[in-house]
Amino acid sequence: MKFSGKNVLITGASRSIGAEIARTLAGFGLKVWINYRSNPQIADNLKAEIEKSGGNAALIKFDVTDEEGFLEGIKAIIDCDGELSYLVNNAGITNDKLALRMKTEEFMDVINANLKSAFIGCREALKIMSKQRFGSVVNIASIVGERGNPGQTNYAASKGGMIAMSKSFAYEGASRNVRFNAITPGFIATDMTDVLKDEVKESYIKNIPLGRLGNTKEIADAVAFLLSDHSSYITGEVLKVNGGLYM
Ligand code: NAP
Repeated sequence: MKFSGKNVLITGASRSIGAEIARTLAGFGLKVWINYRSNPQIADNLKAEIEKSGGNAALIKFDVTDEEGFLEGIKAIIDCDGELSYLVNNAGITNDKLALRMKTEEFMDVINANLKSAFIGCREALKIMSKQRFGSVVNIASIVGERGNPGQTNYAASKGGMIAMSKSFAYEGASRNVRFNAITPGFIATDMTDVLKDEVKESYIKNIPLGRLGNTKEIADAVAFLLSDHSSYITGEVLKVNGGLYM
């Protein structure tokens, strides 16, 4: 795949989907900035793995809910590379509970971790990429943001917000050649879905036309396409990667 830019920041990239995005984009020759917040060892192992395969990786530690830390992280990247070509807002959490039992703080914590952080990332990327007259951002939303899910009012609101926000950023960035798109994964085998009970997973799988959970590489390949030159006329789009679960 062809990329005119040279570097990418991926939030929450030390494990699961984020780590696979980092591996894939490094494989296409981009310098990948691996954001992590809590486990330097896993992040370091990923960096070493990428470098061993001939890729270029760097670590950047911040918590995406800490605005100051996020801004400092982006500044450090610009100070080092002089530009930011691509951003993937991938960091995300769940905190599932039926709405009747959900405290307002439990709602807001998920909104802050998923939606507010993506807003900060998109806004800062737009500032930098507007000056460059080039850039592409992918927000990792969710099928749950498209169709809702019981027990996930907080998560659904955050991911639905990311979809609408991506489209608004797409309008604002278009005249400066800065693209914003969202990906809505279905059920992907990661630590996040590993906590689901087997019977819940089986009930989901029964309804997935392709008959299985997705894997992290299938998300990473979609991200690569939406960042790359091959999607240069695509902005404000929502790419479903869900095995047909929601069409
Ligand atoms: P995961 O296995 O739980 O990994 C989440 C990653 O995000 C971890 O690296 C975690 O870092 C990081 N993270 C969380 N909060 C953070 C914060 N405040 N600051 C920095 N990093 C933070 O999740 P996943 O399955 O890979 O999901 C990745 C993205 O895809 C999420 O946005 C998720 O909502 C979305 N998604 C996943 C699925 C799925 O089926 N798995 C489906 C739809 C959408 P730590 O190691 O420090 O915890």
